[in-house]
Amino acid sequence: MKIIVQKFGGSSVANVDRIKNVARRVVSYKKKGFGLVVVVSALGDTTDDLIALAAQITDTPPEREMDMLLSTGEQISCALLAMAIEELGFHAISFTGGQVGIKTDMTHTKAKIIDISGERIKEALKKGKIVIVTGFQGVTQDQDITTLGRGGSDLTAVALAKAVGARNCEIYTDVEGVYTTDPRIVPQAKKLKQITYDEMLEMASLGAQVMQARSIEVAKKFDIPIHVRSSFNLAEGTMILKEADKMENFVISGVTLNRNEAKITVCDVPDKPGIAAKLFKEISKNGISVDTIVQNVSRKGSTDVSFTVPIGDLTKTKSLMMRFTKKIGGGRVLENRDIARVSIVGVGMKTHSGVAARMFEALAEKKVNIDMITTSEISISCIIKKKFAERAVRSIHAKFGLG
Ligand code: ASP
Ligand code: MG
Repeated sequence: MKIIVQKFGGSSVANVDRIKNVARRVVSYKKKGFGLVVVVSALGDTTDDLIALAAQITDTPPEREMDMLLSTGEQISCALLAMAIEELGFHAISFTGGQVGIKTDMTHTKAKIIDISGERIKEALKKGKIVIVTGFQGVTQDQDITTLGRGGSDLTAVALAKAVGARNCEIYTDVEGVYTTDPRIVPQAKKLKQITYDEMLEMASLGAQVMQARSIEVAKKFDIPIHVRSSFNLAEGTMILKEADKMENFVISGVTLNRNEAKITVCDVPDKPGIAAKLFKEISKNGISVDTIVQNVSRKGSTDVSFTVPIGDLTKTKSLMMRFTKKIGGGRVLENRDIARVSIVGVGMKTHSGVAARMFEALAEKKVNIDMITTSEISISCIIKKKFAERAVRSIHAKFGLG
């Protein structure tokens, strides 16, 4: 039996009508003879609502309890979808991540999957049932519930595809695929037919919201092709693959925008070997991932170090840094929330020159000042002021002829 994993995002199951619509779509594949493993996210904005609820009680919720809370969202959609499928006269069974043996480490709120047994899924499939699994969650060795980071249902889907030996992994969302940039900012943005894992990984890490970055890492590792498509129509979406069609190989594939980072500056840290290592170890130890780093020119034996972190980690990072600078005899710790990251991504960059210059030109033409720059083999990012973000994206998108 050919198994397909289908994942439906929050907007695809936002209300009862949409859940019924998903049930019909799933059943249509069942009728074609496929074995179906369906992963669902929480209804609409449920996860955000739950986070807001916790925030009304405390600024620093214990992360274990946060996972207990957030994991409930996916249980709701999971059970409702199973019911909707049964209503259509087909057999379905819903499971939590723990029930299907998704084992994770103990990093609450961003746990890593260690192993998936998938026994119960295989049994249920054998009995002809459509299997529905809660996205975004697993359990630790001690059966404590963990979640896999925001957008983690994508990761559940990809990891399950690997675990059950599925040929296809379809990610259903509210857009028709992966676009050259956010169509809400640039209406001329184009849907890509194909994109490589590496490009998608960069795009997702840099702010494209179609898929969770970690899920792409796993897809790449096990070479699981992903089809990102809309749950509202039957149009073909975007294939994420090892190698994309050369025909579509432009210099860059997309422009991304991330407004969910903040900048921390640790002032007057002693300019001597080992300090940066200590500073960033302090941060990584706490599971926070740092992005762009800039160290200023040293003056009188000390220097300022700036870096960006996800906005959700800002408070924690700031207090870590305050303790750190006290310990090493450094200066003040400043935060800046008024930043945005615009990036360009494309494997074509490897073989074309002058790409960075063209990006900076596009920014200069719109009088956008650049605060920080980082590059990778297939991406270039600029940190700019938030208010210039959309203007910058439009200008760059046009400059590279993506529309
Ligand atoms: N519901 C979770 C979130 O909003 C997981 C997901 O949607 O993939 O982050
Ligand atoms: Mg969601």
